[in-house]
Formats: sequence, C-alpha cells, structure tokens
Amino acid sequence: MEQSDSHSDSSTDAGSLYRANAEGFFGEFGGAVLPPHLAGPMAEVAVAYAEASADPQFQEELQALLSKYVGRPSLLYFAENLTRQLGGARIYLKREDLNHTGAHKINHCLGEALLAKRMGKRKLIAETGAGQHGVALATAAALVGLECEIHMGAIDVAKQHPNVVRMELLGAKVVSVEEGGRSLKEAVDSAFGVYAAAPDEYFFAIGSVVGPHPFPTMVRDFQSVVGREARAQVLENEGRLPDLLIASVGGGSNAMGLFDAFLNDDSVRIMGVEPGGEGLEGDRHAATMTLGTPGALHGMLTKVLQNADGEPNAVHSIASGLDYPGVGPQHAHLESIGRAEYVSVSDAETLAAFQLLSRVEGIIPALESSHAIAQVIKVAPTLAPDAIIIANLSGRGDKDVDFVAELLRSQAPAA
Ligand SMILES: *Cc1c(COP(=O)(O)O)cnc(C)c1O
Repeated sequence: MEQSDSHSDSSTDAGSLYRANAEGFFGEFGGAVLPPHLAGPMAEVAVAYAEASADPQFQEELQALLSKYVGRPSLLYFAENLTRQLGGARIYLKREDLNHTGAHKINHCLGEALLAKRMGKRKLIAETGAGQHGVALATAAALVGLECEIHMGAIDVAKQHPNVVRMELLGAKVVSVEEGGRSLKEAVDSAFGVYAAAPDEYFFAIGSVVGPHPFPTMVRDFQSVVGREARAQVLENEGRLPDLLIASVGGGSNAMGLFDAFLNDDSVRIMGVEPGGEGLEGDRHAATMTLGTPGALHGMLTKVLQNADGEPNAVHSIASGLDYPGVGPQHAHLESIGRAEYVSVSDAETLAAFQLLSRVEGIIPALESSHAIAQVIKVAPTLAPDAIIIANLSGRGDKDVDFVAELLRSQAPAA
C-alpha cells in the first residue's frame, strides 16, 4: 500500500513534534509528577490507554457512541450574519453546543468511561467546580454502566444547585467538601485522596488535557474528533483549509480537540483565547499562557499562575469553566515552538460577545465559548473577506443565562 501523505492525517503521525514522548513530555512540558504510590496506578492507565487506542474494537465502540448517542458529527455552521456584521473573514462555528449534554466535554468523558470499564474499574471519580465536568461524567457513567462519585466544594454545591440535581438524577454520588475554602481546590484534594486510597477500584477521570501522562494525550485524542470533522467539513464547504482556528483555553481540551488535526497544516494559524478577567494587572484573571511561569501542578510540568513559593494563585474568570491556574502541557509546548499563539479577552469583551452572537445568529453561547467569539470579533475585521476562520463553539449558554441577566441588570444605569 502507498504511504499516505503526512499532511492528510496528522493523527497517525506519531513521533512528530506534536506527540508526547514515552514519558509523556511535549518538549519540556508534561510528564507525570506523582507521589511514588500513584506512579504505578498511573502507569497502568498509560499502558491500558496505549492498548485501547490501538484496538480497532475500542475505537469502533467509542465512534458508535459519538454518532448514535452524542449526535456527531456536529455541524460546521457558516455564521453569515456575524460575518456580514463584522465585515471581514468568513466565520464558521464548530457547533459542539449541539452535542448531547450541550458541550464538548461528553466526547472525552465517554472515552474515559469506556477505558475504565475495559480496565475492570467499578467507579469513576472526579472533582468538579461549576459542575459541567461532573454532569458530563455522570452522563457517561450512566450510559456505560459504572458508578460515579463527584467531589465538589460545599460553596459550589450551594451555588450550582441545578448541576447537583442533574448529577444525582444521573445516579452519581455527589460528595460536598467542607474543608478549607470549600471550593474547587479542596474538591481536587478530596477526590484525589479517595482515589489514592483505592486506585484499583476507581478510575480518576480528569476533565481536560491536564494532569499526569497519559491524560493530556488521551483527552486530546478523545477530543480530536472535533478537528477531524471540522477539517473535512471546511474542505467540503470551501474546497480549502481555513486560515485561522480560534478556541477558548481553560485546561485546553476543546482547543486541542479543534487544533490537533490541523497541526501539520503549516498554513493554518492557531490561536487560543484565555480569560483576561477584569484585567491582566492584578490577580482577577486566569491568563496562564500569557502570564504563567514554568512549574508543577496536578501531576504535570506546565505553565502555572503561581506565587513566589510555587503555590497556585486564586484565579478568576466570568466563565467558571476557564478559571484554572494551569494549562495543558501541549499548549505550553505549542507556544514555545511557535506553532500556536495565545491571547486573552476580558470579562467585558466576553459578555459583549455572548450578547452579540445571541442577537445576530440566534445562538446563545456558553461564557467559556464566548471568549473565542470575542476574539473572532476582534480579529475578523482585520482579515481579508476571503479569509476563513473556524471558531470552536464549545458549549451552549443556557447554563449562564440567569447569571448574565443578573450581571446586565447590575450594570444597567439606574433609571
Ligand atoms: C469546561 C469548558 C471549557 C473549558 O475547558 P477546556 O478543557 O479548556 O476546553 C470550555 N467550554 C465549555 C463549554 C466548557 O464546558
């Protein structure tokens, strides 16, 4: 058989600049920074994933769930009204908001659930902040037939009540964490503690392209269906590759999902968008790629927003799914080799993008995804009318409408 052109299928291009080495390093970032008693269990996950990813039966099973349950392929939608309004590049939106559960997270949660089952684990365990990862994982657990235990800070349990109800309806056990600040950080410690005590029983399902090897690779691979579809769809629609990809970056899974299939397409510019929050001067942002420094966090070497003692900063974003003081190690690597660039947009720009897309296209985007739209609004007018942008609409905004309505009310000038 003929050797396929390396540009036609980047996902099989193992050993390239864009694949981790055997220890999980993307250049100087990644790896598995773990206490000794967890190194063994994590190495088992790496071996099991390597076997599963090479097993056609596993891939077929996952693909079947993605098409018959999630509803893939998701649309690549030409946003004609937004394009006209901005007066520049042609804008396409990859509609991950149309997936079952309303966001991209279900793509990797199903992959993780299938792998856990294949490894003979009984339970999925994870932490969740706003509850989006918890709901997606509880959904996958219900479908695949596994137990699910979600740790959540007590403050978040109170704030995100509808997601707690959803998780419980889906059959998950929600553990309210009462320690310390009773928030995401304590939830991570709590879930990790339970896992560390019984790694044979549990599969720790990380919610983004972060954490120790193999998670940055595995979650990317599970999300890479987004970019493979988008690449085929834009070739079908336009007969050529896009000029620019734009995606929001929290941990970085929806972004890596879109970017991966295009990494070998040198003509395609790649841009990640971080939460600039209330401005980059103080601490009220989560712009890790822009302002972070190399460090260790959650089992990986990556860029981290940290203080002088190496403690991660308390971070902020209008989008709770983006307020993470670290970032997936492959993003840090892509920036260091000049393959991708990272910018930030503010809460205010994000809110304006949320409103504009709703009004102009009749699509209410998640506040996370609105970061990508905000960058589209900035950059599209500067590009030629025949340029093509694909932005990842990572999720729908129904979850955010009450919060946004309240924000807008509080900002409205007094009558
Ligand atoms: C969780 C979430 C994100 C951020 O996570 P990444 O791993 O950076 O993709 C972005 N968009 C939506 C809709 C989310 O739910």
